[in-house]
Amino acid sequence: LERYTAPVDDDAGARIGRLVVLRDVTREREVDQLKSDLMATVSHELRTPLASVLGYAELLRTRRLEPEARDEIIATVHREAKRLSALIDDFLDVQAIEQDRFPLTREPFSVTELLQEQVRTFAGQSVRHHLTLDPCDSPPIAVGDRGRISQVVANLLSNAIKYSPDGGEVGISSSCTAGVVLVAVTDHGLGIPLAEQEHVFEKFFRVERGPAARVGGTGLGLALAHEIVLAHGGRMGFESTEGAGSRFWFTLPTE
Ligand code: ADP
Repeated sequence: LERYTAPVDDDAGARIGRLVVLRDVTREREVDQLKSDLMATVSHELRTPLASVLGYAELLRTRRLEPEARDEIIATVHREAKRLSALIDDFLDVQAIEQDRFPLTREPFSVTELLQEQVRTFAGQSVRHHLTLDPCDSPPIAVGDRGRISQVVANLLSNAIKYSPDGGEVGISSSCTAGVVLVAVTDHGLGIPLAEQEHVFEKFFRVERGPAARVGGTGLGLALAHEIVLAHGGRMGFESTEGAGSRFWFTLPTE
């Protein structure tokens, strides 16, 4: 609460009391906090890929390079530019959710097909990790925004890979009960310290200590994923042991 006070005098100038105004500024404070978090993340996370795009573009512009070296640099520029674009999309999505303007399409889709698609995409990108898929027997049909649910699964898989720097197995499974599918992504990576676990779904939250801090990220992915699942009438949670691994799961209603 913000407090303003002012003396109140009568016509003759004698003090008759004080005027006290209390104003609830929680919402303003939250917006201020969000803005300063955004600024910190922008300077941290946007500048690094931008600096490397600029640096490499400069190299391409000023040096005569062997075709192989040039191709490698072009691939790096492309990768970094894609990362920047994904970051900006995440920022905008977070803002849209904050302001209650986050449109979701509603269409029936096969959860198993979506999982197969995501596993194929990630298996192609990561050579150090072994991805396994264990879908439930009765192929579940969910109704909702397939693209957004793909984003949730991609976020969980990418975290499982990112936070398992030594490689190893990443498992994704689904299990079906009447009217609900549960999707779980299991890794044997860094895990999350117990003291930090309550903050994992908060916007901009990142584990700041230990090996996880050396992995790049914005702390937006899980906050977004969580909001998307809630907006579909599902739930999201996780179990994690520091140094041993994590299991992130979410549910969706099915037809
Ligand atoms: P980002 O990965 O961009 O930092 P996320 O919102 O996806 O943001 O995750 C928030 C934080 O939770 C991460 O910074 C990381 O510390 C922790 N985290 C998420 N997934 C995992 C995981 N599978 N294993 C260990 N830590 C994780």
